[in-house]
Amino acid sequence: MKFGGTSVADIEHIRNVARHVKREVDAGHHVAVVVSAMAGKTNELVEWCRQIAPLYDAREYDAVVASGEQVTAGLVAMALQAIGVSARSWQGWQLPILTTNAHGGARILDVNGTELLKRFKERSGEVAVISGFQGMHRETGRITTLGRGGSDTSAVAVAAAIQAERCDIYTDVDGVYTTDPRVVPRARRLAKIAFEEMLELASLGAKVLQVRSVELGMVHNVPIFVRSSFDKPEDIDPRGIPPGTLICDEEEILEQQVVTGIAFSKDEAQLSIRRVQDKPGVAAAIFGPLAEAHINVDMIVQNVSGDGATTDLTFTVPAADYRRACETIEKARSSIGYERLDGATDVAKVSVIGIGMRSHAGVAAQAFRALADRNINIRAITTSEIKFSLLIDAAYTELAVRTLHSLYGLDKA
Ligand code: ASP
Ligand code: MG
Repeated sequence: MKFGGTSVADIEHIRNVARHVKREVDAGHHVAVVVSAMAGKTNELVEWCRQIAPLYDAREYDAVVASGEQVTAGLVAMALQAIGVSARSWQGWQLPILTTNAHGGARILDVNGTELLKRFKERSGEVAVISGFQGMHRETGRITTLGRGGSDTSAVAVAAAIQAERCDIYTDVDGVYTTDPRVVPRARRLAKIAFEEMLELASLGAKVLQVRSVELGMVHNVPIFVRSSFDKPEDIDPRGIPPGTLICDEEEILEQQVVTGIAFSKDEAQLSIRRVQDKPGVAAAIFGPLAEAHINVDMIVQNVSGDGATTDLTFTVPAADYRRACETIEKARSSIGYERLDGATDVAKVSVIGIGMRSHAGVAAQAFRALADRNINIRAITTSEIKFSLLIDAAYTELAVRTLHSLYGLDKA
């Protein structure tokens, strides 16, 4: 059971969490709990680091920001004990959860679940309450953190280590929706979604889960259940199926739709390099410097050269990196060789996702027709096996998302 920041935001919420856990323990389950810091706490800690030193030492940043989760793990263990449930807190280094040394964005290498499993057996189900977000560097023994939103990943990693039946993510939404319900009121909650689809959704900006947690769930085949922590613990039958979304292997989804969800992001910027020399090494001359500047390039479209000498090349970057990307390209102008650099920040990326696309032809063609009927121009297109993304003018984002949502039969009845 994983509880996010809003679910442990204050003492009252923490008591609520304890009652959710007690319900599962009373139903005869062995439970490991992973907690985030109280809502807003990590932001505050990060801000303190920035105030002390804008270029802080990443190891000390981790020492500071990991503390939020230490507090909530202890408090949840106490709240459980207070209602008669035996519980013990665990910091990342105590299990340990071993990670790489990329401080501030470490990756989990191994979670040792031996002690937890032993205690489930010997201490008749002592609940383990584990601090999310943090681990320990395998070689130096120093505290690391997993990047913002990392407790989701801690939870799935712990679930894999103890061979849990399921990893329940309790959060402030009651599941994964076909698209953002604030934009499309007719968005539906999905009962199930395949790991691969969720991976795309999360990478494309759905903020429900950290991307890495979905990757881990897929690799270790840990079903992840996204559900609300605001339902009254006593109202839930632990043997029934509560409202929520199960992220699982695609084999387990019987009624697979062709399209599962629509994601969109307005944090995009487009750069177009006009009349680039069409010769070997040019793409490297463009994308090499961007990579060195740590600018993430997303869609890339290169035209077939008409005159055999020059071509146009368009790509997108996060809006926040737009200026830097332009500067980087201009600086490399002599090694690239081009006529003009154009750009736009008022663009949005709309993506259509569904495993069914693998076996259905013409899914994207339907979208092109529907958007054309609404006079929405498509600036760039990219596709993969289970999704396609369209770059359009940002002003049409909502219209495009709604149009596609109805087109693929996702609207709530
Ligand atoms: N507390 C950390 C954060 O705010 C980790 C998490 O909540 O998942 O990013
Ligand atoms: Mg989160």
